[in-house]
Amino acid sequence: MPETNPSQIIVIGSGSAVIQEKRFSPSFLWQVGGKNVLFDCGWGTGLGLVRAGIKLQGLDHILISHPHADHLAGLISILHAIHVSGVYYPATKKTNQLFLHGYPGFMQDYETLRKMMFPERVEEFEIKVDEFTDEVKDYDGLLIKSCQVPHMPEHFVTVSFRVEVGDQSVVNSGDCGFNQSLINLSRKADLLVCEACIPPALFTQGPRPNHLSPFECGQIASLAQVKRLVLTHLYDNFTEEEAKAEVAKNYSGSMILAADQMAVGL
Ligand SMILES: [Zn+2]
Ligand SMILES: [Zn+2]
Repeated sequence: MPETNPSQIIVIGSGSAVIQEKRFSPSFLWQVGGKNVLFDCGWGTGLGLVRAGIKLQGLDHILISHPHADHLAGLISILHAIHVSGVYYPATKKTNQLFLHGYPGFMQDYETLRKMMFPERVEEFEIKVDEFTDEVKDYDGLLIKSCQVPHMPEHFVTVSFRVEVGDQSVVNSGDCGFNQSLINLSRKADLLVCEACIPPALFTQGPRPNHLSPFECGQIASLAQVKRLVLTHLYDNFTEEEAKAEVAKNYSGSMILAADQMAVGL
């Protein structure tokens, strides 16, 4: 179990849509200022949080970058679990408000999923659902910024999120191809958690419009002058040494290859 730290991220999943024993779908938790902020929520996220010693009812904010199942599918089971846990174990009842933030169209997707999977939910705790495109919203000192990024534009809008608390900032790329909006959003961030789906061997054939390679993650980190870079959304089709070499072609800062349950202090 990760040590208690006033500000740290815990990688809940460092994998992809492929269901793997050692890499759950991409998700991480930022514990900051007594708040639990979860970025993306696919398969395995609920179990990963429990393994990390995180109480699900202690979640404060959940940010969903886009509707692919590896970023969204765990949400309803987590909410259902919070509700049922409160019924059978009253001491675990959630009392504080939960904020769900998502891409354009998220409110409708959430209602559809909730009605299919969790129609009996009683409003015992407040869930506030919000959508983001390119904007900034303030939640009592927790600032959320977002930008649209290219991923599957013919099907849905994808957003990257930046969260700021005090002078600390964390960015989640979500899934996307190389783009200037993510560079702008990541400007001087303490931590950029960036998807690195495309292996170096494939990248030599040219950049992809909807996913990033370690080389491009390094470019973005360098242009945005981020303090630390975490590569995630991994398929284990390149080594840590290869990733470091690719990133180092552009970025000289600290780079970490994510692993499930890894804690990174800010
Ligand atoms: Zn995706
Ligand atoms: Zn994905």
